Amino acid sequence: MCLLFYAKTYYKTAFINQCNGYTVVTVLKSKFLKLNRLILFLALTATILTFINSFYSNYEVQKEQLVLQTIEVNRAYASKLSDTTEVFLRTSQQQLTYTANSLFNKMNDGSHLKEEANRLKFQTDSFNSVVISDASGLTQAASPETLDLVGRKLSSVGSVEALEEKRVLISSPYVSTLKNLIVFLSAPVFDYQGNYLGFLGGSIYLKSPNILSEILGEHYYKNGSYIYVIDQDKQILYHPEKGRIGSFIEGNDGIDEIIATKEGGLLLNNSRGIQMLAGYSTIPSTGWIVITQSPVESTLVPLTGIMEKVVLRTLPLALAVFLFIWLFARAISKPLQQLADKARSLDSPTVNEDIENIHSWYVESLGLKRAMLSGVKLMQNQIGDLKRDAETDPLTGASNRRAFQFKLKQLVLLEIPFSVLALDIDYFKRVNDAYGHSVGDDVLKQQTKILNRFSRDGDMVARTGGEEFVLLLKETSKEDAFLVAERLRIAISEETFDVVGNITVSIGIAAWAISDEISVEKTLSLADQALYEAKGQGRNRCIIA
Ligand code: GH3
Ligand code: MG
Ligand code: MG
Repeated sequence: MCLLFYAKTYYKTAFINQCNGYTVVTVLKSKFLKLNRLILFLALTATILTFINSFYSNYEVQKEQLVLQTIEVNRAYASKLSDTTEVFLRTSQQQLTYTANSLFNKMNDGSHLKEEANRLKFQTDSFNSVVISDASGLTQAASPETLDLVGRKLSSVGSVEALEEKRVLISSPYVSTLKNLIVFLSAPVFDYQGNYLGFLGGSIYLKSPNILSEILGEHYYKNGSYIYVIDQDKQILYHPEKGRIGSFIEGNDGIDEIIATKEGGLLLNNSRGIQMLAGYSTIPSTGWIVITQSPVESTLVPLTGIMEKVVLRTLPLALAVFLFIWLFARAISKPLQQLADKARSLDSPTVNEDIENIHSWYVESLGLKRAMLSGVKLMQNQIGDLKRDAETDPLTGASNRRAFQFKLKQLVLLEIPFSVLALDIDYFKRVNDAYGHSVGDDVLKQQTKILNRFSRDGDMVARTGGEEFVLLLKETSKEDAFLVAERLRIAISEETFDVVGNITVSIGIAAWAISDEISVEKTLSLADQALYEAKGQGRNRCIIA
């Protein structure tokens, strides 16, 4: 047979299942959170949020730093390379100009021209090829000779431009007669009278190994960074991927911004859609732009290591903060918790002292403690009043029958021996009849005072009936009780009662001790019998049962 029922308290609900003598108690979760758990939760949340926040802001700052640094490094690099290229171009132009000036009277000397062309080509290696043309565009000399240009009319863009402009020039990139993508540098030749005699030109083959690829190529670095050069038309003049040289960059807003601003740095998507951090600088004499760029991804690789360090350095502090918040919050909650505990056991006899001992170290908890203390005191006073009312006879202030019974039980439980004096006023009806009930009441009150004088600590005066009283004497033998009874009887008989004058009492005496093996009820009835006996023997006397 099984019996299922459930018990509910303010805090918890439990199912109790009784089966064949076994009891299974299932305590359900409390619907209220415990303060300690709340505090732990608060401390953890605060710490974790602070930690995440500091990690995140650190991450963002470090990332920004790395990005800005990389862009700046790339810009500085591009600037340096554009300077170097500018210097190279100027030097090359100076070489051409110097040689061109020396040809003013040598344009008809074929072997000299050939010599000069070879010297320019092989001495410096600045150019992939060198040509010398007369004023009509007819090639007078060319190096290397394998080009087989001598005697042929030059019609390429660079040559036509040189013939037309008659000044030192750097051409835009173009495809030459021999199908090379070239940049052509040229210087005019004039005689003493200033007549134009032709030009001296050097070509740089952009798609072949050339001086530019030597200057720029050595700076190619490993982490996915690379350098390329474009002209103002977005045509690629140099690129580590040879196949892209000569092609045009299209649909890239970043490149437009680069062309517009000449020097700087920005975030750019490359042709493969990879995010790049680019630095760039424009070569003044040609308007070409050197761009150095590094993938964002590889730039941010050190971030992992940095963040690991950040975590390692922040973690101990975060833990310390967590501990601090937790312990401090616990310290804050401790008096509240203790007060709450005490509030649940207000009936404990030591509750006052317990509450007093709670260390309420801040104003609110102190206020709560004081409120509880005064509440408890008030309650205890009220309980005391109620208890007194419940145990006291309102007329005389003596204990009533209930208190007397309770006292007897206590004594029996503790096995403390005692004697009882059962006392009854003689002819009390007559007092009432002669002077009225109210005077009778006064007699009862006055007599109680006398009884109280005979009551020691631990004894009890109780009014057990109308004008019947009991004096309970703790740890007192029958014989001693008789002596007390006698003195009491005499004291009452000698007392002058207001209005009434003198009265007498009769007293029956009985004793109880655990060794006597008689019940308390028997003792009481023995006392009553003795009292009855005293009445029978003429009153105003004491009789031992
Ligand atoms: P005896 O005891 O000597 O035999 O005579 P008695 O006249 O005293 O008789 P008994 O004890 O039986 O009478 C009790 C009287 O006490 C009855 C009643 O009028 C009176 N009495 C009882 N309670 C009160 C009280 O509270 N106030 C007053 N004034 N009188 C009370
Ligand atoms: Mg009586
Ligand atoms: Mg009487």
